[in-house]
Amino acid sequence: MKHLILLAFFFASLGCYGQGRRIQITVDKENSYYGPAYKSCVDSAYAIMNAVFNSAKFQSMYKNVKFPNSNYCDWEERDKHSPNGITGQQLYDRIFARQKPSWGIYLRMKSGGALGYTYPHTGRTTANYYTIRYDMRKLPRAYALAVNLCHEFMHERGLCHESNKFNQPDSEHPDPKGYKNDIAYRIGWDTYFILRKWVQQKRPIPGV
Ligand SMILES: [Zn+2]
Repeated sequence: MKHLILLAFFFASLGCYGQGRRIQITVDKENSYYGPAYKSCVDSAYAIMNAVFNSAKFQSMYKNVKFPNSNYCDWEERDKHSPNGITGQQLYDRIFARQKPSWGIYLRMKSGGALGYTYPHTGRTTANYYTIRYDMRKLPRAYALAVNLCHEFMHERGLCHESNKFNQPDSEHPDPKGYKNDIAYRIGWDTYFILRKWVQQKRPIPGV
């Protein structure tokens, strides 16, 4: 009996100090469109997105942050779930709600305009390949696409922009107000900073 109690404590502490949450987003092939030449880029971008979400860095950076509830796409959710704002914990619960979601991608060979768009809870995102390449020239193409995917996944999860107007001081720094208040915008930029570092460090990512 004593052993059992000790074991229970051991597993309880493993639960507290374990590896954190996991998500594995896979390409919903039935709901995707991209040329065969882009398959490895798309597969790598999904692997990079998963690596970012599953990293200790990502899972600690919003723990003590609170965002306004205007981030909810659905107005009804604003009062129902978090009238006092969205806590980091609520944000993580939303991102990691399902462990193995399948998500489609339409990779358009478009340049100019937005990097992409996603309607909430539709299971598919649209990415403008050349706009993304041009916007993040300092990153290899799969990493740049991964930045966009991490941003767009917030829209998939029901988080929208209150406004699409951002005043960025330059191409390497975000609009301070947007960065503070807008979850999708913030996560896009944070992913960009994380991946710039990982590329510089030549950090290996499984599946890339
Ligand atoms: Zn967006």
